[in-house]
Parts: sequence; structure tokens; C-alpha cells
Amino acid sequence: MFGRYCINFDTSVKTNIKNCKQFMERTLVILKPSCIERNLIGEVIGRIEKRGLVIAGMKMIQLDEAVLREHYSHLVDKPFFPQLAKSMMACPVIVMCLKGVDVVRVFREMTGVTNGRKAAPGTLRGDFCMSGSLNIIHASDSVENAEIELARFFKPGEIFDYAPATLGFIYETDEL
Ligand code: UDP
Ligand code: MG
Repeated sequence: MFGRYCINFDTSVKTNIKNCKQFMERTLVILKPSCIERNLIGEVIGRIEKRGLVIAGMKMIQLDEAVLREHYSHLVDKPFFPQLAKSMMACPVIVMCLKGVDVVRVFREMTGVTNGRKAAPGTLRGDFCMSGSLNIIHASDSVENAEIELARFFKPGEIFDYAPATLGFIYETDEL
């Protein structure tokens, strides 16, 4: 019985995984200094892994004002921008590329709304934040912005195109 299941897995699921992996959606995640300093890296990565999202790229970098002015261009003119920039440069951050079906929407929902005090319990911000600024995570808000943001933080070759063997137990064949 088990052997037969393995044969099915090898023939149909693996073929689908191979075909799907370059089409899977991607998103950019930043574990902010408030995440690093509060020792929440493991909590966040644990939830990413348990949900079944694929970590396709990950590294620690120090942000500077120039990249923050680009990344938060929609907020540069806001009075809180200097404070936001300072908080984002307080220590190195971890940038990640996540892959999955509908991953942009799925991870935004896992993140919760901007203000941690208003974020729903069960979300990362709702469980670990009390601030509207120090809210531990950045997550891309659209598929288009995700690709722009990934190009901002990752060089070619730093994002890997691999399909974990577990994928066939995370998605049904027709979902890939
Ligand atoms: N932010 C802030 N005060 C505000 C709004 C935003 O300090 O009134 C910060 C906060 O850290 C937020 C980031 O600016 O995560 C980017 O804001 P955005 O509106 O894009 O929210 P997000 O997409 O992160 O939920
Ligand atoms: Mg945003």
C-alpha cells in the first residue's frame, strides 16, 4: 500500500512540482530590527515553515537611508518617516524570498494589519506587536510590488529554484 502510494507520488506529484516551481508566486519579507532585537526570528520562521511556504532566499543585511527612501517611497513625505528609517537601521535585518501558491495574499494575512494593537490574534503582528511602527515584519502588498522589492534586495543567484520534497504533501496535485 505504502509502496504504491510512493509510486503515485513519484509519477504525478513530482511531475507537477517540476512543472509548477517556476510559476509559483513570490513575495519579499523583511524581519525588521524589532523582530531581530526581540529574538522573534525563530517564531516567524517557524510559522512560515509550518504553513508550508518555501524559503527560496534568505540573508542578513544592514539597511541604509538610500534604500529605505526607495523602499518606503510612498511614506518619505510623512512626518514619521525619519523615525521609521531610524528604526529600520537600528540593527541588521533579515530579507527573505518566500514562494507558494497565492503567497503574497497568504503572507499578508499571516502578517496582520499595520498597527500591532489592531492586528488580529493569530497573526504575527497580532501575537507579537504592540506598535504601529515597530511591527516586526515587512511583507509585499501585491505581486507586482513583490517582484520590484525582490529585485531591490536580492542579486541574481541569491534566490534558489528548488522544490522541497514535502511539497507533494502540502498541495494536492491539481493545486500546483
Ligand atoms: N508606519 C508608521 N506609522 C504609520 C504608518 C506606517 O510608523 O502611521 C511604518 C510601519 O512600520 C509600517 C511601515 O511604515 O509597517 C510601512 O507602512 P505601510 O503603510 O506600507 O504598512 P505595512 O504594509 O507594513 O502594513
Ligand atoms: Mg506596505
